[in-house]
Amino acid sequence: MSDSTKHLGIETLCIHGGHSADAHRAHLTPLYASSTYTFDSVEQGVDIFLGKEPGYIYGRFGNPTITEVERKIALLEAFGLKDANGEALQLYAILHASGMAAITTMLLSNLKAGDKIITHPSLYGGTQEMIDKVLPGLGIATVIVDMHNEEELRTIISSDDSIKMMYLETPANPTLQCIDLKRLSAIAQEHHLVVCVDNTFCTPLLQQPFAYDVDFVIHSTTKFLNGHGTAIGGILLGRDAGRMNSDVKKMHRLLGANSNAFDAFLLTNGLRTLSLRMERHCANAMKVAQFLNSHPKIQTVNYPGLVTHPHHHIAKAQMKDFGSLMSIELKGGFDAAASFMNKLKVCTNAVSLGTCDTLVSHPASTTHVGVSPELRRSSGISDGLIRMSIGLETAADIIADLEQALS
Ligand SMILES: *Cc1c(COP(=O)(O)O)cnc(C)c1O
Repeated sequence: MSDSTKHLGIETLCIHGGHSADAHRAHLTPLYASSTYTFDSVEQGVDIFLGKEPGYIYGRFGNPTITEVERKIALLEAFGLKDANGEALQLYAILHASGMAAITTMLLSNLKAGDKIITHPSLYGGTQEMIDKVLPGLGIATVIVDMHNEEELRTIISSDDSIKMMYLETPANPTLQCIDLKRLSAIAQEHHLVVCVDNTFCTPLLQQPFAYDVDFVIHSTTKFLNGHGTAIGGILLGRDAGRMNSDVKKMHRLLGANSNAFDAFLLTNGLRTLSLRMERHCANAMKVAQFLNSHPKIQTVNYPGLVTHPHHHIAKAQMKDFGSLMSIELKGGFDAAASFMNKLKVCTNAVSLGTCDTLVSHPASTTHVGVSPELRRSSGISDGLIRMSIGLETAADIIADLEQALS
């Protein structure tokens, strides 16, 4: 696969990457709706089970429709990158039932009781709840620090041997703060920490964390990768074949965290247009951010593409474009935010992000309602904060809708 794809552009890989010819010459990989797979002989069954012969066994372990999308995303995330020997970087991907399932497999296959994770404030709400409420019960604690203070970060890591993993999200949800992947990954490596990056907001088209030698990348494929809001999914990518094929694969299978043929089919189809969609997402978001930034009723616009954003320089250095996510703070707090959201006509009031249509949500009452008010406040999630995922509609229509809702 990697040999035949070496010289192809990323747009071509979005469309053709990961595809293998179908036995019945179907143009698109069909939905393999089969829970189990047959063996010609007892001996063949043994060989497939032991991995001596390639082949499918049971739907919880894998499925040809799923394999196509795993290979496609691995090619995109590795695009143009080299391994330590200067060869094209090879990544291994496992599709999951959801982004949270991918995160859970990654956490549980890398950490044990007594270990700690180091991370920053303002994570995805589900991830935050997982590390706050579930992992402590398993004896896994979390240290939350401001990753911009590198001196403090180094001091904390070097004074605590039980810190085993660094978990990063950039830009972070929903405040769009960015962190420097190159510097942080280097600090983590000095201390032999496992590094995992949630790359959901960027997709491999805008940011490739494996360029900085991180160990794992996860995506909620529910968002931009699917792009049409038709299925929940998550992918876990790793660079270490041994680890991915042993502990990580085992955890995925035993948790029953597998995806299914239909969701994988929808995801493959969505990925075909990813490059076009990301271009338009970014272009529209920049126009909307500029409009909102000069509107008298808006207090703050958090968009990494604006030169006024405190982390614009970080975003510029590690992202190819600035993405479609932004958050805004209206003058007038919660009441102003509620009145604005209730007046929207073109934009949709819904959680989630990365779909063709513009989605607007209120984190304090929805995605982050499970996060304690103190942690919400310290993470910059005020009661009036609104998050927007700018879609692919005509930019002027999105702006006109926001303008009438603000008036
Ligand atoms: C949605 C999301 C997740 C969780 O993914 P699910 O598919 O909903 O389980 C994780 N991280 C980020 C940044 C997300 O936006």
